[in-house]
Amino acid sequence: MSETTMSDQSPRPLVEIRDLRMHFPIHAGVLRRRVGAVRAVDGVSFDIHEGETLGLVGESGCGKSTCGRAILRLYDITSGSIRIEGDEIGTLGQDALRPRRPRMQMVFQDPQASLNPRMTVARIIGEPLDEHTTLSRAEKLDRIYELMDAVGLNRNFANRYPHQFSGGQRQRIGIARALALNPKFIVCDEPIAALDVSIQAQVVNLLEDLQDRFGLTYLFISHDLSMVRHIADRVAVMYLGRVVELAPRDSLYGAPLHPYTQALLSAVPEPDPGLEASRRHIILKGDVPSPANPPEGCNFCTRCPQAMPVCHRIDPEMRELRPGHFAACHLHDPDHAPTAEPTAANDQPQQGE
Ligand code: SF4
Repeated sequence: MSETTMSDQSPRPLVEIRDLRMHFPIHAGVLRRRVGAVRAVDGVSFDIHEGETLGLVGESGCGKSTCGRAILRLYDITSGSIRIEGDEIGTLGQDALRPRRPRMQMVFQDPQASLNPRMTVARIIGEPLDEHTTLSRAEKLDRIYELMDAVGLNRNFANRYPHQFSGGQRQRIGIARALALNPKFIVCDEPIAALDVSIQAQVVNLLEDLQDRFGLTYLFISHDLSMVRHIADRVAVMYLGRVVELAPRDSLYGAPLHPYTQALLSAVPEPDPGLEASRRHIILKGDVPSPANPPEGCNFCTRCPQAMPVCHRIDPEMRELRPGHFAACHLHDPDHAPTAEPTAANDQPQQGE
């Protein structure tokens, strides 16, 4: 996927990811020799424009959280390019990254695990200020109160500890900490997955509100396609370490082009019981292959209900099939017209009620 094909808008995107790879080595034997690699992220490219929310969806284990962490350079990446505001950070060492950290932050999935239980809320929110600013004690406290106001936390609770808050409030603490240094870009890694359904919408509404107020840009990682439909401007679908479809939200949800996206969306329940009863659910066979040993050709070919012989040999290219709507699938490639019969491994009907 070239830079130009992925950039459907101007001006220059805030975040530009090109051919990002994050492979984790597998060691074995007494000498701990390297015998392979888990290809958690295997050639991912996309842009995120300023003020935009890009949803990143896929089943657990598809590499989406690793991708988010790699983009923020919480890992030393295997290869690829990560540009934030045109500044290449993919190859920087941790010392060079430190002054760049304030503009890119992360909201974690589990607020319980990501907050230090021995620190008060004021210390948790103020920690990035200690590390990256020279604010006086009074200025810091002012800023902490300002952040608590912004996320809807009562200032009077500044000296309480995380365990004294509910899950939703703890996530607000995590969001306040992420905002402390005025970031431009935030990776939200399953920010509502650990919360009760009743408060998930509150946290999502808060994230949207903060985006409007502070001009934030989000990468919103989630397996919850309904929530992503609500919050994202565009959506990237990941399977086995790769983005297989990327499109504006309405185009993706209205007319998905990749068989994997079609299967994922067919599993989202429809609130109207009448419509739900008439829908066809695509049931995928088999397990997701190991990212240490992905299949030849299309990485979805072992489970795809529409796989053709060519799919087992040739890796499909990402193509722009509608304006701003990209998919990697031979079904949409004129050179591999889908006239071939389904392969033996996939010749059973895959659609059920
Ligand atoms: Fe299915 Fe082939 Fe398309 Fe892959 S390239 S998604 S196997 S039809």
